[in-house]
Amino acid sequence: MTLPISEFRFECNSAFVIVTGDPWVVVDFNPTAIKWFENKLKRNQPLSVQIVCNEKALRKRLQRGRVASFELEVMGDFKLPVLFTLRQLDQGSEGLEPQYLLEGQDLTRAKSAEHMLTTYSHMIEEKTRELEAAISARDAFLSAMSHELRTPLNLMIGFSESLLDEVYGELSEAQNEVIQKIYTSGLSLYSLLTNLLSLSRIRSGKLNLNRQAVDLVTICDHIIDQYEEAIELKQLKFSIEGTPCCQPYVDEQWSEQMISNLLSNAIKFTPENKSIGIRFSTSEKLIRITVWDHGIGIPISQQSKIFQPFFQVDSTLARGYEGSGLGLSLVAEIVRLHGGIVSVESKLGFGSQFHLDLPCHAVDIDQ
Ligand code: ADP
Repeated sequence: MTLPISEFRFECNSAFVIVTGDPWVVVDFNPTAIKWFENKLKRNQPLSVQIVCNEKALRKRLQRGRVASFELEVMGDFKLPVLFTLRQLDQGSEGLEPQYLLEGQDLTRAKSAEHMLTTYSHMIEEKTRELEAAISARDAFLSAMSHELRTPLNLMIGFSESLLDEVYGELSEAQNEVIQKIYTSGLSLYSLLTNLLSLSRIRSGKLNLNRQAVDLVTICDHIIDQYEEAIELKQLKFSIEGTPCCQPYVDEQWSEQMISNLLSNAIKFTPENKSIGIRFSTSEKLIRITVWDHGIGIPISQQSKIFQPFFQVDSTLARGYEGSGLGLSLVAEIVRLHGGIVSVESKLGFGSQFHLDLPCHAVDIDQ
């Protein structure tokens, strides 16, 4: 059944032309079609080749029962990208040829959106490249600076240690106090540089893990030896619970670094006479090392941020705790390289638990 022509007689962004016969002759069209094609379109006249140039091919496609479509740039006082579709309207009744509807859709908006999308995606690609270059320049700078600074710093730490040991003569109380400050500041600067260097090595993919089955008890004993003095100084109660069920397949040095970072935070953020500890537990193929404390705790709103580099819950200059905000981000990066995860449970004013979940067997992780 032929659609009533009046159906196409409305102002819109689409042009409609009805054709029939062989070759196609124009039966009717809507006002938009007149606007676009002007005098190329006349009733009862053959369809202009400027509108449809390859009639034969289009007919073949229509005979196969398909909708024929093609793109064309309509030229007049204006230039218009148009998508044309041709479909059969009816089978034609006795003595009458079938009619076809040629519909043209203005693609200006779609084309300009496409153009904008391409422009923006090129801009994003360019910005991403710039960002990547800036990040690798930053990492290279940090790496070089940390490396260069650590050598003279080592000398300063070594000499101040010798002075404190009175290798160069007896010290007065005031001298001892000042050199002690130089020594501890040197140590914390050294640890900041080491953390920076490690972080940039991990980020630039230059860190190679030396994996092996490690004995966590030995690692913990070693760490505890380092922190014994600090634990005693704050009179903290320290305990180790559980025993590791397996030897995780990890890098010994970096595992020690992770546990050490967590334990030093536990000591730092726990008031005197309170408790801290390390606990081992197992679930499925994971070994869990928990470093816990009855310290100041972390507000829930800040818990997801503490693993970002340089983030500190209290970032004011008047904060009561030293630090760089790099320790936990380093833990997060190292544990990721091992195919494990780090998580935190904490309640403000009650304390925190940091869990390190490490696989007991080797896992393939892109480094
Ligand atoms: P920092 O050098 O400041 O300790 P970290 O990356 O190790 O850096 O920790 C980031 C921040 O997370 C700390 O500044 C502190 O606010 C919070 N935090 C980490 N561990 C603890 C903890 N055991 N108790 C309370 N707050 C903690």
